[in-house]
Amino acid sequence: MKYADLHVHTTYSDSTLTPEELVKKTKLAGLDCVAVVDHDTVEGIVPSIDAGLCCGIEVLPGIELSCDFNNAEVHILGYLVDITNPTLLATLADIRKIRLDRMYEMTVKLKDLGVNIAPEEVFALANTQNIGRLHLAQVLLKRGYVKTISEAFYRYIGDRSPAYVCGFKLSPQKAMHLIKEAGGVPVLAHPYILGNDDVIPVFVDDGLMGIEVFYPEHSASKTEHYKNMAAKYNLLMTGGSDCHGAAKPDVVMGAIKIPYTLVEKLKEAKENI
Ligand code: AMP
Ligand code: ZN
Ligand code: FE
Ligand code: FE
Repeated sequence: MKYADLHVHTTYSDSTLTPEELVKKTKLAGLDCVAVVDHDTVEGIVPSIDAGLCCGIEVLPGIELSCDFNNAEVHILGYLVDITNPTLLATLADIRKIRLDRMYEMTVKLKDLGVNIAPEEVFALANTQNIGRLHLAQVLLKRGYVKTISEAFYRYIGDRSPAYVCGFKLSPQKAMHLIKEAGGVPVLAHPYILGNDDVIPVFVDDGLMGIEVFYPEHSASKTEHYKNMAAKYNLLMTGGSDCHGAAKPDVVMGAIKIPYTLVEKLKEAKENI
């Protein structure tokens, strides 16, 4: 049997793992295939594919697009996208700018809450142009404002917390269209975060082709539930750990292992786009 993890990040977004470290951990976890789905960037794909060649790990190109859906953040995964697609790359350049602006806005909000962090501190820690909240959370931890990464989210920068700024302009509908234009397969990431399954059929009408059924935060009953939803709406099933290395210490490679047959289904679906 071959196994895959279809949701991991690299240092090109907000993981602490370089492509080389990532594929080593993939190998050690007994996996054969991994999909790199950095937030709003494909910069890590070629380095990860190259790193994978050295230790026999198949790296699939992907992306996790940040969208605004009624002021809530929704993540749409795009598997097997053409990472040279000009429309995709132009959109990603816009989002990179939004991410920078939003970091300034979030640090202003934090200041009002008595937390003094300069955006430059976050940029220095991130060491990438693709700035995100997990970078900010690590600075909050380093500076002693919080004791854990998850405290940074529930006290300050989580989706419903006082210093949160969404700022993303892409709708899930546009994101799915963009992914298909780039030859990719659009999949709804971690559906439990939405907390509202009624939107799934709406997304299906807009072009959704799969849902992330297997995810560390999905209980056995939730997994079963999303399996049933996939069957009901004729959606592909995917799954992954959402590993971010040391930035999310509780999530390790190997936490999710899906059968490679699901990767084959994804590849077949791509051929029919
Ligand atoms: P951003 O792309 O800047 O909106 O940040 C998204 C990142 O924050 C992703 O890596 C998420 O997994 C992470 N994240 C969101 N909420 C939480 C949370 N409550 N605890 C830990 N990480 C979180
Ligand atoms: Zn992330
Ligand atoms: Fe996500
Ligand atoms: Fe993710």
